[in-house]
Amino acid sequence: MSATDPAAPRCPDCGAELDLSDATEAGDLADCPNCGATFELVSTAPIRLEPFVDEEK
Ligand SMILES: [Zn+2]
Repeated sequence: MSATDPAAPRCPDCGAELDLSDATEAGDLADCPNCGATFELVSTAPIRLEPFVDEEK
């Protein structure tokens, strides 16, 4: 694994590379280190992320 993987998913809001260190399987959440948006990992092969909506706010 490389931190500079060209296939690494990017935040659709700000374009920052997402940190997937804590998202290793489907259902895990990943945060954008730049804008704080949260995404849910829905697939690992290939990696697919969908915006995670916090309905409390
Ligand atoms: Zn972002």
